[in-house]
Amino acid sequence: MQLNDLIARLDDLLQPARFADYCPNGLQVQGRAEVRHVVSGVTASEALIDAAIAEGADAILVHHGYFWKGENPVVTGMKRRRLGKLLAHDISLLAYHLPLDAHPQLGNNAQLALRLGLLREGPLFPLDSRAVGDVGTLPETMTAAALAAHIGAVLGRAPLHIDAGGRDIRRLAWCTGGAQGFIEQAVAMGVDAYLSGEISEPTVHTARESGVHYFALGHHASERYGVQALGDWCAREFGLTHRFIDIDNPA
Ligand SMILES: [Zn+2]
Repeated sequence: MQLNDLIARLDDLLQPARFADYCPNGLQVQGRAEVRHVVSGVTASEALIDAAIAEGADAILVHHGYFWKGENPVVTGMKRRRLGKLLAHDISLLAYHLPLDAHPQLGNNAQLALRLGLLREGPLFPLDSRAVGDVGTLPETMTAAALAAHIGAVLGRAPLHIDAGGRDIRRLAWCTGGAQGFIEQAVAMGVDAYLSGEISEPTVHTARESGVHYFALGHHASERYGVQALGDWCAREFGLTHRFIDIDNPA
């Protein structure tokens, strides 16, 4: 299909204009006009670009692209190598950040919930329609240790669990990536546990002092599934071929 049509359909699906984001969403680097094969990945690292070149991809679809607010804009070093390879091989880079976190079916939060069997009840921020994150329940009450083991088995990576006094878990909140700061909102929503990707020093104290278990799943591990689902959607809708390539990242 034509690159312009693919971008238009993705923008239509993900509604990037609804979000106040830290990066441009949609087409970030323009490649060849015709797209047949798409490679997806969490982050547009040089390793992902190398893998996409080896695959003969026409476009790369990612959650973490380039041109972040506050980033040094000069094209040197790492950025020169990444952009140079994309341009030399005529490969497009399509990046969707917050719109992909938030999409109700294909988004990172929806897909994480699907994999872990979490039942969504509503948003983590009920008063802000542009915010991301969800509140819901487990199908049955679990101990924190059992939930940690379940997460580890599903994601293939043991979460870092901050115990909040041994209470069992039924209601919980989750937001993928670097959303550990939303733990205070999770506390305000009265849940038993909060799941996100990363952890900071203060997160530990908030969890312990508010009695809400915290699970750091890994930023990368918590955000593998949205872009994968989006790539599969493109394959189904448009007859493109798609392969998700996981460039391992322990963080
Ligand atoms: Zn992220």
